[in-house]
Amino acid sequence: MARFRCAACSRDGECEYDGKDHRCPLCGSPDVVFALAIEELPDEVLDSINSVEPLDDHRDEEDR
Ligand SMILES: [Zn+2]
Repeated sequence: MARFRCAACSRDGECEYDGKDHRCPLCGSPDVVFALAIEELPDEVLDSINSVEPLDDHRDEEDR
């Protein structure tokens, strides 16, 4: 599944995305942007996200 937003009919939603049909499922316009769900991202992208170390939790030393 992928989210899409169409510039032609200004609607958005979710639809199946096969990676080659870049048209709005609602109006058929090619003027549509797809945003893939995160589980469809390539593994190297997920690895780079997961490898980011969280910030050290530092206590609030400034009591205000
Ligand atoms: Zn549309």
